[in-house]
Amino acid sequence: MTATIVRPLHGRIQVRGLRGPRGDEPSNRQMFKTATGAAIRPTWVPAPEGAPGWEGHWEIARPHLTDVAEEIAIRDGQVEIEMHYSTAEQCDQRCRSAEGDECTCSCEGKYHGNSHHASWIEVGDTTLVRNSGSKVVTRTLSREQAEKDRSERFREMIRQIGGRPT
Ligand SMILES: [Zn+2]
Repeated sequence: MTATIVRPLHGRIQVRGLRGPRGDEPSNRQMFKTATGAAIRPTWVPAPEGAPGWEGHWEIARPHLTDVAEEIAIRDGQVEIEMHYSTAEQCDQRCRSAEGDECTCSCEGKYHGNSHHASWIEVGDTTLVRNSGSKVVTRTLSREQAEKDRSERFREMIRQIGGRPT
């Protein structure tokens, strides 16, 4: 089973269908902490009453999307990312000059906010969510691509601080 990360229009991201650790792998909570290198507080949200336990999910602060997606892809071979965008929010100047990887506007991150996800492959069709003013784009990230993106970002970071990659 491939884990799915849901990035809703607002609020924290959700990690669904994530397998448990095997052998001497760290716990999933520890994996998230290692991936983001930050003092994050992943929350386990249990399944609704009566539903099977595996229907529970993790919730993690939104800015950690890229790090968490890469970490899961590297451990498990691949991950799916379900990204929600507003159908109403127009792509304007404010949106195009936005920094980082945060975009929920109708352009689906095509014009900005996509630098960290440019290599994520879109799968299937964009789905309109009935009566919610949102649409869902599903992307997939493989282990190979995640490793490549991560090391490129690392090199770029070294370059910016004026060092030399080893
Ligand atoms: Zn836009």
